[in-house]
Amino acid sequence: MTTRADCAAMDAADTLAPLRPEFALPEGLIYLVGNSLGAMPKAATERARQVVADEWANGLVGSWNTAGWFDLPSRLGDRLAPLIGAGAGEVVVTDTTSVNLFKLLAAALHRQAADPAASARKVIVTERSNFPTDVYIAQGLAEWLGRGYQIRMVDSPDELSAAIDADTAVVTLTHVNYRTGRMLDMEAITAHAHAQGALTVWDLAHSAGAVPVDLRGANADYAVGCTYKYLNGGPGSPAFLWVAPRHQAEFRQPLTGWWAHAAPFAMHPEFKPTAGIRRGLCGTQPIASLAMVECGLDLFARTGIDAVRAKSLALTDLFIRLVEERCASHPLRLETPREHAQRGSQVSVAHPDGYAVMKALIARGVVGDYREPEIMRFGFTPLYTRFVDVWNAVETLRDILDTRSYDVAASRDQVT
Ligand SMILES: *Cc1c(COP(=O)(O)O)cnc(C)c1O
Repeated sequence: MTTRADCAAMDAADTLAPLRPEFALPEGLIYLVGNSLGAMPKAATERARQVVADEWANGLVGSWNTAGWFDLPSRLGDRLAPLIGAGAGEVVVTDTTSVNLFKLLAAALHRQAADPAASARKVIVTERSNFPTDVYIAQGLAEWLGRGYQIRMVDSPDELSAAIDADTAVVTLTHVNYRTGRMLDMEAITAHAHAQGALTVWDLAHSAGAVPVDLRGANADYAVGCTYKYLNGGPGSPAFLWVAPRHQAEFRQPLTGWWAHAAPFAMHPEFKPTAGIRRGLCGTQPIASLAMVECGLDLFARTGIDAVRAKSLALTDLFIRLVEERCASHPLRLETPREHAQRGSQVSVAHPDGYAVMKALIARGVVGDYREPEIMRFGFTPLYTRFVDVWNAVETLRDILDTRSYDVAASRDQVT
């Protein structure tokens, strides 16, 4: 049996432990929802003050040049790139994941439509259990385009192979599923899609900063992802998009705003796309929010994604083991794969009263979240989660279940 002392010993040997004090975390709180909103890097307070009180208040409009505001989307993209197996000039940080998905799905469909050998392909393949916005954006785009475009949804990743066929234009998938934490084999699925003549759009919302991603190595085509989850960029911080170098010359997206223009300040009446990845931009960026993203990236620069992954697997292994050892008499069902190759950085556990149990956990300072149906999600952020946090979280869960101290009639919050 694992003991609390074992967990403390794991913390003592943890090479990432020095990064925890860099985060502002309320005393006594066990924060296991960094997969929804990452904790605040302490440096963000000073960076926010700088952006507002120096760059805005004193620099005013000149800060577009002197404070590097105009270049920020691509400069941050270059800093983020190594975390996802991308190179310089391939990523911009901008807009939201939903908007970037729209841009890149449209770009991928446009690319296929322009190829005489692929122009008859009208099917977008995705998973029914994909994050809803990913499905809604694909549905909305297909409806908007008309001309026979349609969505084909599979109920399990095992059905993907058969579902990707000669009619498939684009395959759009989330690398790590938001509900189950299951991770897909990006390289194998991309290879199969290409063999069938389809392009891929990968959503890295639950991957960037959580698991090693190798977009170039997997030969992927397009990708998007969040910065406010494992990258700790702040609430609603802008998302990112990536376009494979081989597609950049042909890259066209429908939101042709002036920030994607070759010469935005020439004020030409005609749109002429800029060279390179800044074609993925649209209009003026939310600089205050964008600037915060750098504070999270600074912390990743002090470690490597392989060290993050090793600790992530140790944390999730420990959590699964402790839940099974200590809560064995309760009707809990593990929704996350046990195989490391199929696991992201979260563990999802279903319970018939999952919502009420999660509310009770949160009331006792163990913050996870809840996703329909029945799923309690526990996200593990290796930069600031300790092994003793895992122990304490499971002990609190065990106590709540043993004493049935949760309210099944608890009303739903607006955000669960
Ligand atoms: C979190 C998440 C999003 C969020 O999209 P927003 O546009 O930032 O609201 C999208 N897709 C997936 C898979 C997510 O996990």
